[in-house]
Amino acid sequence: MKLSIPLTNKCNNNCLFCVAKCRYNKGELDFSAIKQILHKYKKKCNFVGFGGGEPTLLKMKLIKLVKLARALGYEGIEITTNGRLFSSKSFVNEFDKKLNKEKENISITFSIHGPNSIIHDYLTQTNGSFHQTIIGLRNLVVKDFKVYTRSVITKQNLNELIKMLKIFIELGSLGSTFVYPTLLGKAITNFNLVIPKLSKIKPVVKKLLLLKKRIKYPISLKNIPFCLLKKIPNLTSSYCNNSQKKISILPITSKKFIATKDIPIKKSKICVRCKFERFCPGVDAKYEKKYKNEVASLLNPVAQS
Ligand code: SF4
Ligand code: SF4
Repeated sequence: MKLSIPLTNKCNNNCLFCVAKCRYNKGELDFSAIKQILHKYKKKCNFVGFGGGEPTLLKMKLIKLVKLARALGYEGIEITTNGRLFSSKSFVNEFDKKLNKEKENISITFSIHGPNSIIHDYLTQTNGSFHQTIIGLRNLVVKDFKVYTRSVITKQNLNELIKMLKIFIELGSLGSTFVYPTLLGKAITNFNLVIPKLSKIKPVVKKLLLLKKRIKYPISLKNIPFCLLKKIPNLTSSYCNNSQKKISILPITSKKFIATKDIPIKKSKICVRCKFERFCPGVDAKYEKKYKNEVASLLNPVAQS
């Protein structure tokens, strides 16, 4: 079971699809509360994910939390980052020095949303972010850290995903995840600007799945409604079980939090009556409201037995 903790709701990027401020807007946990959470779930969870906002903004405190999590017995630690601070040689050297013995148990997932600065910097609304993220990723690969990538699928990068994948492999990433945006926070404000239509992502998803079969490099797809895939995934597969095996911490104040599987998303009426609703990301009701005809033609619910 994975424990997922947002370490902060602050970030040095300003992505057009960001859900962090909305999801964790009620508060930000202080350092002692985060330590308590690690203690509380050490028996139930064997993995911990540190995210945000941007977790590297905690700098030395992040390193301390990783060391604490390992000392408490968490087998694997995943840090999801925009990676910009890893472009600093002094931070990377400190990170490497302090976590050298834990390297095997740490994976660092870089959020990269384009094949170049034009697309990535536009989506992050931060000039120079692509350059720093790529330098950061390279710096960690050189130090032998396990590095992965995660990209949000948007209108701007939809036709660039295969190109991005090639770049990630060349950079030394060990696996890549492509995620359809969650319709919360700024993804709603900027819906028309960034959210691709499901009918447009369907052929791209098909290409990625074909590639996944052909090459050894791990490719994952997340938040993709099953009806867009060629066949419904096996219910025991990781694609279906991911959300079931996770405890997400949602801060309420700096000391209080709730633990949940995830924020429930109101799904399309069509998905609600489908047998796979519990396992499938489905289609958000807000999306259905905007593209009613498209959703009706794309979805093919399986009757509940
Ligand atoms: S990198 Fe972008 S999506 Fe991630 S927390 Fe920062 S602003 Fe939000
Ligand atoms: S209809 Fe069923 S399988 Fe299709 S997207 Fe909705 S929940 Fe998933």
